Amino acid sequence: MEMPAELYPPRCRACSGRIHGRDAEYFCAGCWQHIQLITHPLCHLCGRPFPDASGDDHTCGVCLSRAPQFVAARAWACYPRDEIEEHPLRQVVQKFKYGRRVSLGKPLGRLMARGCQEFLGACPVDLIIPVPLHPKRLRWRGFNQSVLLARQISHAYKIPMDPFVLRRDHETAPQTQLAEDERRKNVRGAFTLNPDRSVDGKNILLVDDVYTSGATVNECSRILKRNGSKQVFVVTLARAVS
Ligand SMILES: [Zn+2]
Ligand SMILES: [Zn+2]
Repeated sequence: MEMPAELYPPRCRACSGRIHGRDAEYFCAGCWQHIQLITHPLCHLCGRPFPDASGDDHTCGVCLSRAPQFVAARAWACYPRDEIEEHPLRQVVQKFKYGRRVSLGKPLGRLMARGCQEFLGACPVDLIIPVPLHPKRLRWRGFNQSVLLARQISHAYKIPMDPFVLRRDHETAPQTQLAEDERRKNVRGAFTLNPDRSVDGKNILLVDDVYTSGATVNECSRILKRNGSKQVFVVTLARAVS
């Protein structure tokens, strides 16, 4: 028997526990306190948050040694890269992608659109492009999580979104176990521009779920710029920080 939705108590998107009170949206208080929103100071290029809360934004060591192809990247919140699976933000991302919980796209996309308001409001963007999945992985998962996130940003900021601009032609090994250098090599040449689309002279916002080394969005940015894009900005839901 179908139950009307309002009979279901709101559940935490990470741990599935009850949400009490009115202030916690999407997460229970226990999970919410572990979700570390990204605040200043940060690297003004890649958006890496700096642990010392007193300083100003500046360029991080990674960006100094290798300038990214994009203008700037920002994320909504971060989780520790080498930590336990139980971190609520990692947990919710895993549920979304590997647990194929399509229904998480809307709340997570909204959190991202709202949380990155300062950044998104300042980016002169003509077109939103989600990072594509390889067709094989897309078939297996049934949806591209980045498209669902990008859709919410598109709605919130009234900017068109096109998931068919970039194509992922090569199936790449999962990035998770790879070192920074290997990640770059792994995604090199993985993306191409759809010959039916043009990005010439356009300012692009790339959307992905997680920013780890930045190798994927950097490679996408390279392809976009090589095909005439003016500026590329990046926004992700989460950032894995070491
Ligand atoms: Zn929870
Ligand atoms: Zn940086």
